Formats: sequence, C-alpha cells, structure tokens
Amino acid sequence: MDMDLTPAQRALQAEVRAFAETVVAASANQRSDDAVWGTDLWRALGERRWPGVVIPTEYGGMGGGALEHAIIVEEISRVDASLGAALNLLQQTVMAVLSFATDAQRRHYLPLLASGASYSITGITELESGSKMTDMRSTARQEGNGWVLNGTKTEVHIPQHVQICLVFAKTPGGVSAFLVDTATPGLPRGHGAGIVGLRGLPMASVAFEECRLPADSLLGHEGGAYDVFFKSFDLTRIGNAAKCTGIGAGALDRAIAYARTRRVGENVVTDFQGIRWQIAELDARLEAGRLLTYRAAQEYTAVGRSTLNSARAKLIASSAAMDATTTALQITGNHGCFTEQPFARFMMDAKLSQITGGTVEILKNSIARELLGKPTNPTP
Ligand SMILES: Cc1cc2nc3c(=O)[nH]c(=O)nc-3n(C[C@H](O)[C@H](O)[C@H](O)COP(=O)(O)OP(=O)(O)OC[C@H]3O[C@@H](n4cnc5c(N)ncnc54)[C@H](O)[C@@H]3O)c2cc1C
Repeated sequence: MDMDLTPAQRALQAEVRAFAETVVAASANQRSDDAVWGTDLWRALGERRWPGVVIPTEYGGMGGGALEHAIIVEEISRVDASLGAALNLLQQTVMAVLSFATDAQRRHYLPLLASGASYSITGITELESGSKMTDMRSTARQEGNGWVLNGTKTEVHIPQHVQICLVFAKTPGGVSAFLVDTATPGLPRGHGAGIVGLRGLPMASVAFEECRLPADSLLGHEGGAYDVFFKSFDLTRIGNAAKCTGIGAGALDRAIAYARTRRVGENVVTDFQGIRWQIAELDARLEAGRLLTYRAAQEYTAVGRSTLNSARAKLIASSAAMDATTTALQITGNHGCFTEQPFARFMMDAKLSQITGGTVEILKNSIARELLGKPTNPTP
C-alpha cells in the first residue's frame, strides 16, 4: 500500500494548513471560550468546498475521497478541533443523503452542504441511550402519508443554524433513520448545554413533539437505521482519527515552539533529555496514528468500508492526542496554564475525542470483534 500523498493531496494539505493558521487560529480560543459557532468561518470553508469534500462535483462538492477528508480534518484540527469535528460530523448526513435520499433531495441539499450555506446535525444519543442504539426511546409512527416523530435527542449540535437533521427513531419495524428539514413546522430549537470541550461546536438538546414529517423523510427502508448509520460510520471514524492526530500535533508543535525559546539556567527546555524523549515518543505515536488513518482512508475509498483499520486508527490517534496535549501543557509550564494559550483547549478537545465518535472501549470491542468474532458467552 502506497502511504505517500500525491502532489495534489500535498497541495491540499498545504492550502488547508495555511488557511487554518492565517484565518482559523485567530478566533479559535475565543469561539471555544464563548461556545459560539463561526457562521462566517463555516462559509469560508464552504467557498473552498471543504465541507463537501466527498460530495461529487455534479452536486457542487470537491469529488474527493476519504484521504482528502482526513487531510482537511487533520489540518483544521491542528488549530481548531471544533471546526474539524464539524467537518467530520457533517459527513454522516452527506453519506446518508448520497446513498439513501431521493434525487430531488440530493439536488436540493448537497449543494447547500458543500458550499457551507447550511449545516446538518445527527441525533442519535438520548438521556438513556448512548453506545447502544436499540436502547433509544424516540419513536416515529406512520400517519396518513407521512411520519410523526416524538422524542428527545440530548447531544446534537448548533440546532439554530442547521437546515437538516439526521434523526434516528424507533418504528414498528425497528430503528429507522429520518431526514428532517428544519423548516418542518413544529421543529424545536434546542437549548444549549455547557459542554467542557469541542466548545466551538456548541451542543444542545432537541425535543421533538408530534413533529410531522413527509413520507420521503424516511431514509432507506423502515428499520434500516443501521444501513444508513454504517454508510458513514467508517468515514467519520477516519475523520475522528484525523482530528485526534491534528489536536495532538497542533498542541505538540506549539509547545515545542515555546520550549525552544524558554531558557532555564544554561539550557533551553528542549535541551533536557527527559523532555526530548517525551517529544520523540509522542511524535512516533502521532505518526503511527496518521499512517493508520491514511491506510484506513485508502481502504475506505477502495472498498467502501474499513471497520478494523478505522477503529485501530482512532484508538491509537486518540490516545496519542490525549498524551500529547497533557505533555504539551507540562512542557510549557506556567506559560501554558492560561486561557489565552490553546493548551487547555487542546487537552479538553482530546479528552472528548476519546468519547465522541466511538468511545475507547467501543473501539476495542470493534477491533476484538473483527479479530475474534462475537464473544460466545457475552458478558455485560
Ligand atoms: C463532543 C461530543 C459530541 C457528540 N456529538 C453527538 C452527536 O452529534 N449526535 C449524537 O447523537 N451523539 C453525540 N454525542 C454522543 C456520543 O455519541 C456518546 O457520548 C457516545 O455514543 C457514548 O454514549 P454515552 O456517552 O451515553 O455513554 P454510555 O453508552 O452510557 O457508556 C458509558 C461508558 O461505558 C462504556 N461502555 C458502553 N458499552 C460498553 C461495552 N459494551 N463494553 C465496554 N464499555 C462499554 C462506554 O465506552 C463509556 O465509557 C457526542 C458526544 C460528545 C462527547
């Protein structure tokens, strides 16, 4: 497998890095402190078609693959993981619309999503159900020529700015996926929740009460939620791994830049062997996560799935990011301990990235299942 990026991919990487450093970085801390979504920033990403990286050009997207997605998410996350997370989360709806929506829905929504004119959220998690989708309480029942949706999704993002929500609910035939337009009468606007990381992508809960949806809001067949979910599952895991690598690399690079200039007696901080070894080890682990991510991305683009490699990539990259961000704060000492610096933000973003998009435990379960099959005597 060729792990080298093509000249076009390298050019994309350089372009996104320059944009992230010159445009995104300046407001990243402030948006995180204030827990606000950067609508203008999102539009600027859209002008470059980065939200539509995997959307075909006929719908206004870039027509790229999973590796281009990983490159964009990593580079943006080096300065702002909330924005990287937003780019990644969006792909759940993109893949659902591409694969299961009607032609009219594709022609309507995909250009809006690709251009940054709109955004979409995913509603799966509820107060009493997280890792296990079948525990959910939300329901949809058929009525007349449509569906009626009820339930509360506790962890959805920025509902006041979105155009579509990808919502999962129980129907008589199993768990089903619905494409819900926010223009739907009665669709609620959620209340913000005070999340501790990835704060530039604010979190809210949304309660659907007798929300009436048209017949074509059902994606795929009734009970087909898993088909919809798994269409984007590995792609967003790849994006999540790339986000983690970006967080870790961004934190470490900034810590090194400071430590090179910080004198302690006769030395600068990067002269100390104890510090050099930590940096060397973290660099190796981040690179391992990046290569696993590239491998998973190539596999996904080739065959449409990469369950084992995307889980491996996210497991390794998220633990490298967690350790890189805590070490970055340690290396910068007192300097890193203030909110004007990005180090605490990086650390919290890394921690939440070990929960969102596949917790560490669920990733290990996925890897073990791929290697060993299902347990013969499942324990709780
Ligand atoms: C920043 C962020 C963004 C998010 N965005 C969204 C979103 O856009 N849409 C959405 O629907 N949800 C979203 N979520 C929710 C996220 O998907 C859930 O947090 C995740 O699925 C885990 O569910 P839970 O938190 O309810 O944990 P639980 O399912 O309650 O699990 C609790 C703990 O038990 C562990 N555990 C569970 N099952 C097993 C098992 N079989 N073996 C071993 N350990 C196990 C888990 O790993 C976890 O550590 C987001 C979460 C975060 C933090």
